[in-house]
Amino acid sequence: MKTTQITILGSTGSIGLSTLDVVARQPERFPVYALTAHRNVERMREQCLAHQPEVAVMVDPDAADTLRAALAAAGSRTEVRAGAEALAEVAREPRVDAVMAAIVGAAGLLPTLAAAEAGKRVLLANKEALVMSGALLMDAVRRSGACLLPIDSEHNAIFQCLPNGYVCAEPVTPHGARRIWLTASGGPFRDRPLDSFAGITPDEACAHPNWDMGRKISVDSATMMNKGLEVIEACWLFAVVPSTIQVVLHPQSIVHSMVAYDDGSVLAQLGNPDMRTPIAHALAWPERMESGVEPLDLLTMGKLEFSEPEAARFPALGLAYAALERGGTATAVLNAANEVAVDAFLGERLAFSEIPAVIATTLEAIEAETADSLERVLGADRRAREVASEYVANLRQAVS
Ligand code: NDP
Repeated sequence: MKTTQITILGSTGSIGLSTLDVVARQPERFPVYALTAHRNVERMREQCLAHQPEVAVMVDPDAADTLRAALAAAGSRTEVRAGAEALAEVAREPRVDAVMAAIVGAAGLLPTLAAAEAGKRVLLANKEALVMSGALLMDAVRRSGACLLPIDSEHNAIFQCLPNGYVCAEPVTPHGARRIWLTASGGPFRDRPLDSFAGITPDEACAHPNWDMGRKISVDSATMMNKGLEVIEACWLFAVVPSTIQVVLHPQSIVHSMVAYDDGSVLAQLGNPDMRTPIAHALAWPERMESGVEPLDLLTMGKLEFSEPEAARFPALGLAYAALERGGTATAVLNAANEVAVDAFLGERLAFSEIPAVIATTLEAIEAETADSLERVLGADRRAREVASEYVANLRQAVS
């Protein structure tokens, strides 16, 4: 049996937990080299004891000290490393075959890039990395011969609906594929009266009807910025222009996306909404493996509905298209402004209904440059965070 040694970046998060659940079904085939987290010591301690990685990384140095002491007390042989640079180290480690990129937000960019540059099989959940620097990441994949496999359920579905047998390192030109239908559940506020949006609480926004996810992506799903980020992600992954992609509301989250071909065929991938399916798909590809997901029962699943998203309800989606249109560093600006706005909303410093204004204002304030170097991308990210944070602070001052 061929073994695939894996590093899981962001192992303590929602995708990290699902990944460990899948690899634990075949531990001899998927030995864990490294697990990483920001500062969740308790969950990392449990994971180290259960999965015995060679290395655990805590970005926060105090958390690393606490974890080191806790693991030593439990007799664990896992080596604990601290700091953001250690994330890239365990991503590019020569013994590692596959890297699950599941850190949330811009913090995932450098280790994901390191994995791509080192030619790994990169299982990409961290869509923000591609949104910020699609050109650089795809270029790194091509140069190193890495294999980039999408974990987002929609992109994984599209990947499965495209012709088989292409080399991941090459850009995918989906011959004869006329349209990509990117499905969206519409999140928890699909039917909520628009005039009540200002009073939405973080817990309401994080209560997704179909998926159990981390808080940032849950808010992104509620605003539909998540779908906007996914449109950008799809353009890079599948080398298509934005007009090829059509977002469609599908509240049941059973059809994960579709590809329509010139001859009238539409291929779809269906399944219960459980991230273990795309994770198992990408881990085993081109083979298949057991994921633990309940099979879909077509006789009991009920109606499948599809409709167009309302632009007024989901302005964030339009902002993502606008950034994509501008190109260059505009998508990094969009991403950073969104991260600042979502963080402020979760910290109760910004109303839900104000999130799009923070992003729009930041996009207007910063001119897009060519995204041809990491310095430029990180510079745009930094500048956007300053502008967005200032805007949030001014809004608060105006309220108080
Ligand atoms: P979570 O918030 O549940 O987990 C995030 C992970 O990243 C945790 O391990 C966290 O560590 C770590 N982390 C947070 N901040 C930093 C940092 N500054 N440096 C290093 N590590 C950090 O997120 P999700 O699992 O929901 O999402 C992860 C990624 O996957 C996102 O990009 C999301 O868009 C994408 N995704 C998620 C899906 C889902 O179903 N959840 C579906 C499709 C894509 P700690 O626990 O210590 O804070």
